[in-house]
Amino acid sequence: MTPPLLGLEQVTIGYGELTVVHDVTLALRQGEFVSILGPSGCGKSTLLRAIAGFVPVKSGQISLNGEDVTRQPPEDRDVGIVFQNYALFPTMSVFENIAFGLRVAGTGSRDIRVKVDAIAEVAGILDQLPKRPAELSGGQQQRVAIARSLIMGTKVLLFDEPLSNLDAKVRQTMRREIRRLQAELGFTALFVTHDQDEALSMSDRIVVLNGGRVEQAGTAREIYRSPQTAFVCHFIGAAN
Ligand code: ADP
Ligand code: MG
Repeated sequence: MTPPLLGLEQVTIGYGELTVVHDVTLALRQGEFVSILGPSGCGKSTLLRAIAGFVPVKSGQISLNGEDVTRQPPEDRDVGIVFQNYALFPTMSVFENIAFGLRVAGTGSRDIRVKVDAIAEVAGILDQLPKRPAELSGGQQQRVAIARSLIMGTKVLLFDEPLSNLDAKVRQTMRREIRRLQAELGFTALFVTHDQDEALSMSDRIVVLNGGRVEQAGTAREIYRSPQTAFVCHFIGAAN
């Protein structure tokens, strides 16, 4: 059996004495889109930060492509992370924002030009490359953030509520766009959201998190049709 692309085995995470994620086990196969759905403060960002290596785990194991990365520093983990606030470099052009990782890696200028153009075209931001991030709309800035993560050939992309700062219409478009980009580029996605509609409309599978514990995991259809706990039932049924 091939190992999952991203695997979590009984992962517990916290800050000092405080434990905020309890015993989470999760496996993502190549090309899957999985959402972590739960209310504010339930530990979603903490979980993503631990997968990326920014927060140490208290116990349990994290693996990427079968390799144990639990004690590896962030730079040795082949994951990209896309944040709500995009975290773009404000004084650099969009081109340089996307090219940043390649420059650090010492890639030649001509190669960089070819790669940035290619990914910008797929992401629909080819015309925006000379601009500064502030000149772009929120949706366009989020495309830049995604392109910047993907240009390094990252196989696993972690999204931390990437659409929650966008207005409703752009958010709808970006839900479709992220799935389209995934289909074209073939990455595997772990997508964090507190928005049940978003999780239900985008995901192959959903993991419902409550107080740092997994309440229920299943396909979007299973979660919607057969909630297994009162919490899931209320959370899925609640208007956002
Ligand atoms: P979510 O992303 O689901 O809103 P977080 O992972 O940000 O949840 O936070 C989970 C819990 O961990 C919260 O109670 C929060 O206050 C706490 N927390 C988050 N970051 C830190 C930190 N750096 N130090 C101490 N506690 C933190
Ligand atoms: Mg968060």
